Amino acid sequence: MTDMQAAQLIQPGEALRIETLPVPEPQEGEVLIKVAACGLCGTDLHLAVDGDLPVEHTPITLGHEAAGTIAALGTGVTNYTVGDRVAMFPSAFCGTCRFCVIGRESLCDRSKVYGMARNGALADYVTAPAHSLIAIPDEVPFDIAAIITDGVSTPYHALRGRGQLQAGESVAVIGCGGLGTHAVILARLMGAGKIIAIDVQEEARERALSLGANYAYDPTDAGFIKQMRADVGAMGVDLALEFVGRAKTAETAIRLLDKTGRCVLVGVGMERPSLPPTVAFVGREQSVLGSFGMNKADIVDLFALVAAGRLDLTNSVSARYPLSRANDALQHLARKEVSVVRVIVEPGS
Ligand SMILES: [Zn+2]
Ligand SMILES: [Zn+2]
Repeated sequence: MTDMQAAQLIQPGEALRIETLPVPEPQEGEVLIKVAACGLCGTDLHLAVDGDLPVEHTPITLGHEAAGTIAALGTGVTNYTVGDRVAMFPSAFCGTCRFCVIGRESLCDRSKVYGMARNGALADYVTAPAHSLIAIPDEVPFDIAAIITDGVSTPYHALRGRGQLQAGESVAVIGCGGLGTHAVILARLMGAGKIIAIDVQEEARERALSLGANYAYDPTDAGFIKQMRADVGAMGVDLALEFVGRAKTAETAIRLLDKTGRCVLVGVGMERPSLPPTVAFVGREQSVLGSFGMNKADIVDLFALVAAGRLDLTNSVSARYPLSRANDALQHLARKEVSVVRVIVEPGS
């Protein structure tokens, strides 16, 4: 075990290069992980296909949604042993800043995101701080553990942590791709009342309905908000989640709210949504919140739900690729086929 393969970004926006690199040494407080599965997401497309996200340095190994087995321990690591099955938090958070100590790890002041600031898990091996790992229960396979760390925990954080969803409340999900699909599954599991799916693509709406949404609407349909109000039997929903990252969809999400409604923005971009007139927004006591990533606790709790047989994510892995075909995996994701929920790379396969 001296050399390994890694999929590296050399130039943002260009295909990854599969390089032979030395296996990294875990530093103090870190472990070396033999990667079993690494999910890809929109962030990877921004880095390797569109080239519109900054990276701290190149070459850099991509991959921030991963699970595997501990292969070696750095000095000072006492709570894990070689052979333990672990998932990685998507960034190497510090564990000591004021956001880390209150369990808001995605907001860490000294965060090093894998694939942007630190070598990631699209490789046979990756190093990670031991405090950023989450032990995987025996019942949870590596591929499911990997997608939970980002693709499932991001909507869970939006629903639970930021949206404060209460049983019986109505929820609208705007953008039913990978994250939105999981939001529908999770809202149902959390006891939501009526669930509304909003997407321009019919196939995405059909999938949301099959997963438990009560109603699905095409937002390009002029009368859809009126129809939604009639269907939910109220002036709007209690919680609206936006996964697109555009001004127009964010404004739609706010328009869908009833009094006391919360709009949680998860999608990101450079556009600026505007608020309704304050006389309406204030008078209805509405909220607009941002939701960024997840807490470590979100991943722990999702693992428990899968291990207990309450959450079935087996249909979420849409395609698998070996590390040598990491670019094919990215291209598959870039085609934005509605049927694709999550694409996985399996080093060592
Ligand atoms: Zn991601
Ligand atoms: Zn921190």
